[in-house]
Amino acid sequence: MLRLLGRHFEGLSSRRVPVRNDALSPGDIAARLPERAPRHAREFDKILRDVEDVIFPGLTHWQHPRFMAYYPSSTSVPAILAETLIAGSGVVGLQWAASPAATELEVRVMDWLAEMIGVGGDFLHTSGRGGGIIQNTAGEAIANIMVAARVEKQRQLLFGDVPQSELTQDQREETYYADSSRLVAYMSDQSHFSGPKAVRVAGMRLRTVAARLDSADGSYGLRPDDLAAQIREDRAQGLIPCAVQLNYGTTNTSSNDEIESFGQLASEEGLWLHVDAAYAGASWILPQFRPRTAAVERVADSFNFNGSKWFLCGFDSAFLWVRERKLLQAVFAASGPYLAQRDPEAAAGVDPDAPTTQIYDTEFKDWSVPLGRRFRSLRVWTVLNYFGVEGLQAALQSTIDLADDLRGRLESESSLFDVPVTTELGLVVFSVRGGDEATRKVAEDLLGDGKGEGSFLVYPSQLQGKTIIRVALGGALTDSGDIDLFWQRLVAAAKSVQEQG
Ligand code: PLP
Repeated sequence: MLRLLGRHFEGLSSRRVPVRNDALSPGDIAARLPERAPRHAREFDKILRDVEDVIFPGLTHWQHPRFMAYYPSSTSVPAILAETLIAGSGVVGLQWAASPAATELEVRVMDWLAEMIGVGGDFLHTSGRGGGIIQNTAGEAIANIMVAARVEKQRQLLFGDVPQSELTQDQREETYYADSSRLVAYMSDQSHFSGPKAVRVAGMRLRTVAARLDSADGSYGLRPDDLAAQIREDRAQGLIPCAVQLNYGTTNTSSNDEIESFGQLASEEGLWLHVDAAYAGASWILPQFRPRTAAVERVADSFNFNGSKWFLCGFDSAFLWVRERKLLQAVFAASGPYLAQRDPEAAAGVDPDAPTTQIYDTEFKDWSVPLGRRFRSLRVWTVLNYFGVEGLQAALQSTIDLADDLRGRLESESSLFDVPVTTELGLVVFSVRGGDEATRKVAEDLLGDGKGEGSFLVYPSQLQGKTIIRVALGGALTDSGDIDLFWQRLVAAAKSVQEQG
């Protein structure tokens, strides 16, 4: 199997394998698979042959050096090998006793990561107050947070100063089913659609506020005064502000909301302040971006970033931190008599001077919907050990250098390209002079017939009603040679559409 993977990666890194097999139509792969499950056991070699001959050729290769669509889903050798160990161990870390190392590694790794990005205080497990948890995806993390924000708001509305821990079971139930149709969650119109989805899951109203182009940093961000105006309007209609989701690194243009400037408004209005940094949060490990996390530490109630996008940890590693774990536990804590019984003091919650037994006895099943959990922390721990902080910093910096190089080239060819927004990190955004159709045509030309070695996968997107192309760098195999060829092909395609137009 490792040999198969080796051949697979050799094909990608030699650029012989196309980034996407464009000759495929829906149903082509299924047509090559039997309609029913095999009646008899098959030899493993034959199974692997099918993987190599039928299944892998039907993949869009996210690890291909010329995959530049969406955001990267970067993996690495240690992540891949650790994934095998996880599957091999086959443990389900639903509570400490179910697999002590699974819980303790997750606690330790989340505190390591927080420290790496410069966030401490309440967000550390060792504070006894908050902490981090690994979730499957950012969308899932944000949905959990929105539900917790709703329930906490209901507690405040119904029971004022009585803390969660002092509510009776009946009162707690009321915080779950109380009518939330007047509660509102806010975010900018640049937020990822996971944000609105999370609000829907939580059963609240959504208000999106238009982001504005900031002349100082050239990115599209939400302004506190625009949010305040919307809140005033909503309050006048009898609605109740509940939460705000801020962006650090929007999907479309890697834009930032000015996080610190929302702190006062959030506390005056009683908003749960969540920061979605799914893509860009990885950059916080770089010294030049670390100061930005001071604002997160000061004003956020929770934040997330993905280890799977641009952090070499592979998929299924969405990091989420909360300032007050008890607000997640208020929603998600659940137990059954068949579970290992805990020390009653630990079960009552962690106090700030908690002995380590309480910190490491965290029951992650009580922080989100699923009971069973994969041993994801082993993969993250392996990646952190394998690269070290410096190795990860070098990988991220090299992406930024490639992106800066491409941005510079685009800006220098202003007769061919327009750069409508200042993007940061590994994302480059531009349009082709000549209109939306020209931009779309160039994106298609870059893919070509999908077969050639010079084929690049980028998708057009929309920004303020105009078609743009997003080039999302960050794949572990992409290097300067890819940028050179991308540039050559891009200039040729742009000139050709301009001549035709
Ligand atoms: N938030 C942002 C800013 C994103 O860019 C994305 C995906 O690209 C998401 C959330 C959703 O990520 P996930 O697939 O982990 O749910």
